[in-house]
Amino acid sequence: MLTVAEALAAIVSEVTPAAPTAVALRDSLGLILAEQIVSDCDSPPFDKALMDGFAVRIADLDDGRATLRVVDEITAGNVPSCPVDSGEAAQIMTGAPIPNGADAVVRVEDTNVTPSDDGTNHVNIETHPPSVGTNIMYQGTAMRVGDGILPAGRRIRPQEVGVLAELGHARIAAIPRPRIGVLATGDELVPVDATPAAGQIRNSNEMMLLAQIARAGGDAVSLGIARDKRDELRECIQQGLQCDFLLLSGGVSAGKLDLVPSELQAAGVNELFHKVRVKPGKPIWFGRFSGRPSPETNSSGGPTYVFGLPGNPVSSMVCFELFVRTAIRRYLGMEFVEPKPIKARLTVEHASRGDRPTYYPARLEWANDGPQVTPVNWQGSADLRSTVEANSMALFPAGDHVHKPGDAIESIEWKED
Ligand code: AMP
Ligand code: MG
Repeated sequence: MLTVAEALAAIVSEVTPAAPTAVALRDSLGLILAEQIVSDCDSPPFDKALMDGFAVRIADLDDGRATLRVVDEITAGNVPSCPVDSGEAAQIMTGAPIPNGADAVVRVEDTNVTPSDDGTNHVNIETHPPSVGTNIMYQGTAMRVGDGILPAGRRIRPQEVGVLAELGHARIAAIPRPRIGVLATGDELVPVDATPAAGQIRNSNEMMLLAQIARAGGDAVSLGIARDKRDELRECIQQGLQCDFLLLSGGVSAGKLDLVPSELQAAGVNELFHKVRVKPGKPIWFGRFSGRPSPETNSSGGPTYVFGLPGNPVSSMVCFELFVRTAIRRYLGMEFVEPKPIKARLTVEHASRGDRPTYYPARLEWANDGPQVTPVNWQGSADLRSTVEANSMALFPAGDHVHKPGDAIESIEWKED
């Protein structure tokens, strides 16, 4: 049986980043940039005013005071019509270019304008003495032509969208979201809006996995429920193999009706591993399918990566966070793909036992002296309710051990990438 680290390594070596395509900037949030962005302009593109006020020559001010002749009015989007000479000032608005000769902007609150008989205005200034550059942002202060601004592999957040817009990239090279099919299996499952009869339960995993996919940057495709019957399963698997990823929930362990591994193999999916030394989630199955049936519906032209996730809801959730998310990150071309644990201080005593490391639903919080983690009350892999009290999983290594308050415990936060 593979360890978690071995299973992650197998995923990373098996999944290859998909081919980038041109994506509209509007649709790029959350994707991974597949090109390096170098600035082709200076920002700001000219020396600009950072305040509404008057562009002046510092040499004209005597301890912050002066009366100057107003020779121009420059609004944003326009250019100065003349330089500012000695004894002169230009009224200027935020964002407008600084006229030649001026070396500071005095804000409007520190001025008042008096009209004089000859029709020209004069501005009286009384301010804290400015220095050269006060309220001016010089050309190229934020970016210069040739500066490397964004590396390939960067996840696009709202601020990246803004900078790309500033640089004029209406389209960018990125790997499009993978289409990820979700197929729930089990005779006992009924849809969420149905009332379960005796022996039945609602299909909670499908909705949860669709949500996890959306949060991990995938494009989720619902494939519904397949009964534990070979022909039904076979048909649904065929449909799912048209996606970039196929996630099946349930039917992967040792029960009489656990038909998923054999049906996946019958469909030509190559098994890469089955079972990982982990709790919850031991029966997880991973494989690759190389011959997609209908190329026009496949978005990448690559293989389909297939995960059989254990049906117990917490197993399914944890396996997604550990393994499926890693595969998605790798597919999207992210630089760091494996889950990143945070070392946190355990707040309570916690006994763990067994031959597998346990990923335990827990609350990770930031105390004054650093991160701290508290396992929630958890009744095992079928207890999904515990996860709504949690925001992370605390990793308790294999073996019988009583962890003490204050012990450093690795924890993995459940969060958006
Ligand atoms: P299985 O992996 O198919 O043996 O299922 C293990 C447990 O998970 C059983 O108690 C199932 O009823 C439950 N289970 C399977 N699929 C789902 C699902 N889609 N939603 C909620 N529970 C499920
Ligand atoms: Mg089942």
